[in-house]
Amino acid sequence: MKIIGGSIVTNVKSSNLGYPRIGEQREWKRELEKFWGGDITEEELLQNTKSVRLAGLRKQQERGIDLIPVGDFSLYDHVLDTSVMFGVIPKRFQEDCSRTPLETYFAIARGMENAVASEMTKWFNTNYHYIVPEFNESKPALKENRPLACYKEAKEELGIEGKPVILGPITFIKLGKGYEKEEFPRLVKELLPLYIQVLQELKAAGVTWVQLDEPIFSTKLSESELYQTKHVYETIAEEVPEIDIIIQTYFESISSYEEIVNLPAAAVGLDFVHGDSLELLRQYGFPNDKILAAGIIDGRNVWRQNLNDQLELLESVSQIVDKERLIVQPSCSLLHVPVTTTTEITLDPVIKDALSFADEKLDEIAILVNGLKNGKERITTKIEESINAIEKLNNSKYREQVHQSDSSKLNVDRDLPFKERIAIQKERLRLPLLPTTTIGSLPQTTEVRTQRLNWRRGDITDLEYEHYIKKEIEKWINIQEDIGLDVLVHGEFERTDMVEYFGEKLNGFLVTKSGWVQSYGSRCVKPPIIFGDVSFNKPMTVKESVYAQSLTEKKVKGMLTGPVTILNWSFVRDDISRFDVLDEIAAALRKEIEELERNGVKIIQVDEPALREGLPLKEEKWQEYLDRAVHAFRLATASVDNSTQIHTHMCYSNFQDIFEAISALDADVISIETSRSHGELISAFEENTYEKEIGLGVYDIHSPRVPSIDEIRSNINRALKTIPFNQFWINPDCGLKTRQEAETIAALKNMVEAAKETRESL
Ligand code: GLN
Ligand code: ZN
Repeated sequence: MKIIGGSIVTNVKSSNLGYPRIGEQREWKRELEKFWGGDITEEELLQNTKSVRLAGLRKQQERGIDLIPVGDFSLYDHVLDTSVMFGVIPKRFQEDCSRTPLETYFAIARGMENAVASEMTKWFNTNYHYIVPEFNESKPALKENRPLACYKEAKEELGIEGKPVILGPITFIKLGKGYEKEEFPRLVKELLPLYIQVLQELKAAGVTWVQLDEPIFSTKLSESELYQTKHVYETIAEEVPEIDIIIQTYFESISSYEEIVNLPAAAVGLDFVHGDSLELLRQYGFPNDKILAAGIIDGRNVWRQNLNDQLELLESVSQIVDKERLIVQPSCSLLHVPVTTTTEITLDPVIKDALSFADEKLDEIAILVNGLKNGKERITTKIEESINAIEKLNNSKYREQVHQSDSSKLNVDRDLPFKERIAIQKERLRLPLLPTTTIGSLPQTTEVRTQRLNWRRGDITDLEYEHYIKKEIEKWINIQEDIGLDVLVHGEFERTDMVEYFGEKLNGFLVTKSGWVQSYGSRCVKPPIIFGDVSFNKPMTVKESVYAQSLTEKKVKGMLTGPVTILNWSFVRDDISRFDVLDEIAAALRKEIEELERNGVKIIQVDEPALREGLPLKEEKWQEYLDRAVHAFRLATASVDNSTQIHTHMCYSNFQDIFEAISALDADVISIETSRSHGELISAFEENTYEKEIGLGVYDIHSPRVPSIDEIRSNINRALKTIPFNQFWINPDCGLKTRQEAETIAALKNMVEAAKETRESL
């Protein structure tokens, strides 16, 4: 028996780091949207979401999880919860006192009349988005003790001794903006006493364990940040010695391993699924007065794990940290996986048995803890079950692994270098200078969505649906012609989502019934699951492109999602390397592209909006990722004729650091979102030479506002100061799917007019 922090640890414990907020059927989303739509009151919202929260807690309790997280639930985002709790509220939301605190909370996330929403950005390398704290506009002050309220609720309602989860101070500050590097210590100084007060109140209420999430420790911290980190945790240990702090890291191994594991806290949580935590542990050891919270079950993927392997992993860990000092848990919060596989009743059992979502992952944790505590014999049946399920899938017809060797023989270089191909393409396409185009999707009106729903439900036939899509394409080909665009698109009306659409059509993918995961706010996505060998089945986009082309003399661009984006926005099988899966996807897309070309499509756009976000957290892993990403893109696109023009599109403006990779994609034309940092993006082209054609978005598509001709012209002129006019294309920032028809037409008219005026002034 050991005494660590304030509590007595006698044996290995099970824990969870966070549970999905959305409910089995996305009840949470529906409640939020009803509230935003004015259909229910604030009280009803709170009441109804409380039942979703309690249901999640109950499931964790039933599974016998020792340390159940509380305070991980959120009505929008946990980073925003933290900001609001500490009074980090931008001024523009503070003025109107008529709003309730909850209304202010949603206003920060979603914007309101006279105040733009706070920025939203990706949570580390996930597809979850958080609301960026703005530190320049308020002096932090404790507004509420949210974790305390959550702790009390779980205790009163369900008798759970919860483990409050709080975003740690270093990560919270580092994720925020509105301050200079040198001000970091000042922010620490302002926030630390507030954290301490929260912890003291938790202690007074009887809390034993608190999880402080510090995923930022997986990234590289500067000397001074490390110094501040030490200061923060030393102060907490001094001021609240009786509470057991778990410093929780995830998504990668820790960068400054020795410094972090030696911070004064009861426990440190490490991810043993991603990164090299085991090697670090072996090499540098682990303090013998500390508990190790070991992330053993993958919180980022949906596959059942071989429990024998995971138990062995735990045994290896316990050679360095004895069992009494171990906590077994998922690698990260289960926020990033769907809730349960039980609702997936239509799946082939061979696949379903090999899947594990949040609830099933908790079962796996409980089994492992049992095995570690009471001996492997106690869980032999469970171990066998897990191995059988995985083997069955591995030996099934879905996984023959024949495709990898196929793709290695395919060429990844276009026949001629860019300079020579572009001359041939120009000759063939005969486009004006500064050609105008769009990014692909056109407004998906309620009618489009209703028709699709009716078709999915079987209320209208395949033929009727197809007919409707054709009518929509025809309508928009006419509109685009009237507007005077040079390169047209078919509009993507047949697609709900740019990855799901291909997932439904390629071999090796499945789309679940309820496998939703929160992406931002109430928006959930249903990532397709790559469960087997990916291959081309039958043409996916040809029909629509060919039909659109048949209606006009102008060129219509073919449109598909690139291999890297499909990979990054899917759950990927984990029995072979991700990069091998990537090559399989690329080889399948190559066939689609060849098919388009064979059918007379002369311009083909392969979107890669997720290329950048897939960058590993650790910089030393970037090169391999970028090399493989470039390889895959080229594998997909290199077989076309010199006269066929390949476009790509990306939605981020910060690509200075991956400029070389983007150039190496060897796409003839690239369009990039620009509005978020026009100046910065253009300067990337001042510093690097880029010989290929390029369209920097000339207006922002995220707002319904119609940009004026002058405004668009000045954006064009700004770009033309750096980029030669004969290389430049004119297009909006991104797809127009979320816009209304009228505003889209008005904006595109202005864009075409601005292009015309610019051309005349050249
Ligand atoms: N072609 C897609 C569209 O226009 C691109 C979407 C994206 O960049 N995310 O919708
Ligand atoms: Zn985009």
